[in-house]
Parts: sequence; C-alpha cells; structure tokens
Amino acid sequence: MKQKKFLLQEKDIPTQWYNIQADMPTKPLPPLNPTTREPMSAEDLSRIFSAECSKQELDCTNAWIDIPEEVRDKYSYYRSTPLVRAYALEEALDTPAHIYFKNESTNPLGSHKINSAIPQCYYCKQEGDTNVTTETGAGQWGAALSYAASIYGLSAAVYQVKISMQQKPYRSSIMRTFGATVEGSPSMSTRAGKDIITREPNHLGSLGTAISEAIELATTTPHCKYTLGSVLNHVALHQTVIGLEAEKQMEMAGEYPDKVIACFGGGSNFGGLAFPFMRHNILEGKKTEFIAAEPESCPKLTRGKFEYDFGDEAGYTPLLPMYTLGHDFKPANIHAGGLRYHGAGMIISQLIRDNYMHGVDIPQLESFEAGMLFARTEGIIPAPESCHAIAATIREALRAKEAGKQENILFCLSGHGLIDMTAYDSYINGDLHNYAVSDSEIKSNLSAVPDIKI
Ligand SMILES: *Cc1c(COP(=O)(O)O)cnc(C)c1O
Repeated sequence: MKQKKFLLQEKDIPTQWYNIQADMPTKPLPPLNPTTREPMSAEDLSRIFSAECSKQELDCTNAWIDIPEEVRDKYSYYRSTPLVRAYALEEALDTPAHIYFKNESTNPLGSHKINSAIPQCYYCKQEGDTNVTTETGAGQWGAALSYAASIYGLSAAVYQVKISMQQKPYRSSIMRTFGATVEGSPSMSTRAGKDIITREPNHLGSLGTAISEAIELATTTPHCKYTLGSVLNHVALHQTVIGLEAEKQMEMAGEYPDKVIACFGGGSNFGGLAFPFMRHNILEGKKTEFIAAEPESCPKLTRGKFEYDFGDEAGYTPLLPMYTLGHDFKPANIHAGGLRYHGAGMIISQLIRDNYMHGVDIPQLESFEAGMLFARTEGIIPAPESCHAIAATIREALRAKEAGKQENILFCLSGHGLIDMTAYDSYINGDLHNYAVSDSEIKSNLSAVPDIKI
C-alpha cells in the first residue's frame, strides 16, 4: 500500500508563526489613515484591532513570532492537519505530476479560518475586551470567530453578506449555536448599512458592506474589537501554521514542491501555505512557483490596479496599498462567497510586484468541474473556494503531462463543501454560469479609488 497521509504529532505543531515581512526585499508600503492620509502606527490601528494584532500587522523586523502556549493548546484540538498525496486524482488525470494537498478541512468548522480566529480572540481577551465583531461572506470566518469567541467567553456580533446568508442558511445556524448574533448586511442597524440600502434598496451585500458595518459597531461600542478573517498581514501570519507543518510533512514524503497553489479571496490560506516555502525562494534562491487562484468574476490579481484603496465599501478602514478592483466593486453572485473580495492585501500585492508569485483566473464552471473530479477521486467534497485551487492544480498537472515532466504540486484544501451542497446541486442541474468582467467595467469601477500617488 502506498503511503497517502503524512501526519505530525501534537508536539510538532509549530511554536512560532513565520512573518514574511521581515524577509521581504521590498517592504509593503504603510497603511494610511483614511482621513488624514498619514501613515498609521500600531497604536492607531489598535483603536479597531487588538493591540497585539496591530503590532504584528506592522512588524517588518521579527521573522518569527511566538505562538502563545494557550493558543497552541487550542490548536492541538484539531491540529496538526494531514498532508495527503492525491494518488487517485493523479491517476484520473494520468499525469506524471505528484499532487499533494494540505487538508485544512478536517476540523469540525471545516476551514482554515479557525487558525486566526483563535489567536485574535485570545489577544482580545488578554487585553480586557468583552466583545468582538466581524463580517463574514460564506460564513466560514463568522463560524470560526463565533467558536473562538465562545471558548474565551467573548460576545460576538457577525454581519453576514446578505446573499451568502440566503445561499448558506446553515452557516448562520452554526454561528448562533456558538452564541453569536448574526445580521444580514447591508442592515438597518448601522449608519453605513442604512446609507447603502437608501442608495440601493436591493443591494445583496458584499464583504465590503459587511466590513463597514462591523467596524462601525466596533468603534461605537466600548471594549469591542473588530476582527478580520483575511486580507491583513497578521491574519496571514497566523495561517503560516499551515505551511510550516506542510514543510515538515513534505520532508517526510521525501519531496519538495515545484509549485504551490491556493485559492485567493484576501490571501490568508494562500499566504499561510505559501509564505514558509517562499522564504526559501527569497533567502536561498529556490525556484518554487507560487500560484494564487482567483475567480474570473473577481480578478483583482490579474486585472486590478496597484493603488491605495479602502478595504470596505463605506471607506472606514485604513487605506491599503494593494491590487484592487475598487472598494465598491460588486462581484457576481458566485458560490465561492469567500473569494468575492475586491482587494488583495499589502504583502501579496508587493510580492506580485516583485515577481515572487502570480494569479490565475478560474471560471466558475471550471472550478466546480474540478471540485466534482476531486470529490469522485479523493472522496472529499471541497468548498467552492477550494475548487479554484483544485482547478489551477489540474491545469498544472495536465500541463506537466503534455510536457512529459514529473513535478511536485502542493495545494491547499482550504475547506470542505458540506454546507455548500445547494451550490453543487445547481452545478449538477446545469444552472450555474460563468461571469466574466469587462475591461470597461473594471475601468469605470477603479475611478472611485482615491487619488493617492504611489
Ligand atoms: C474564506 C475562505 C477562503 C478565502 O479566504 P483567503 O483569506 O483568501 O484564504 C478560501 N477558502 C475557504 C474554505 C474559506 O472559508
């Protein structure tokens, strides 16, 4: 029998996260205050986020940051996660490529998001906060945050993108089971929400609208901090447990990845898997290729513009230097709710500019076709988001076949799709469509981006 799973023991769970900012040859430009447009300090950021996360966000000197023992202890409830060699998928593709995936779908909440929810809530608790708030798209982050808040005795209020709430009602039930209150965004409970609904009564919501509402709640409620499940540097930092484990597990498999692939919403599962491997490209000249798979309907990495832009619809967040489609970009209602975000984050954007990685665009139908093949070969129904990584992996594996070249491909299975079965039903019934974005749409949307010289 061939060895398929490479497992670590609890004692091998990393003791430190890897902070790629310290090793980047060009550091990301600083976030700017949305009103004064001056660079923001960690202290400025700590009005919205926990002080520790604010510090981590801007840390360009420490490559390794200790994981608090209490956080490692919570990690050990579900980590380490398996690295799996996808023999059945390789066989179905008849490819000489060796395909590995890091399976972040094995925890009961079903995605990688919990890796950052736990430390974010831990730091809030340590710093004396009593409440946390956030936005969620498909509901994976909201579910993870609700659980993490419950283990530290914090109250959680979650704004869920309205369309996602309708598509995935069970995720709201999960959040409420963990004790969180859940509201569809845009809602009438915040000024930002009211403004959006007044402008556009049928707005189906986006991560941008939900972030505006959550930040407004955090800044108007005492001892309440805002938390974010993607995009920001400290979130990708926490997610590096994925890649650090995978590095040891690839060693157990006796191979090193030629290509590392992950789907891309705001970059946290991508950064989490990729950064620990990318450090060897930066520091030792290794030549691994890093590919971020985004939906064709939200193509910020390949067709966005590098600009200072807001992270949310209302313009409450710091201005971030990033590849963006414009902060009020309204992506099509694809089922991969976690990938419907207009911007790429500061670290990733700089890494693209410096040619350490690149994006590819995956049409919705190709993503589900890939997910179906993966389900039927490997026996795991992937999250619609993760299907994008699988589709990109299949493209590479077929390319390797054409070239008659053995190579090692590693991708992140960021979550399972068991609560997304309506999406699979629609695909099977032939009701899903591709949504391409026209150049003129992108151009006109970018005209709303603030005019700041970079
Ligand atoms: C949220 C989510 C994503 C996208 O977010 P990233 O920060 O880009 O990782 C991808 N996959 C799953 C399963 C998610 O829940």
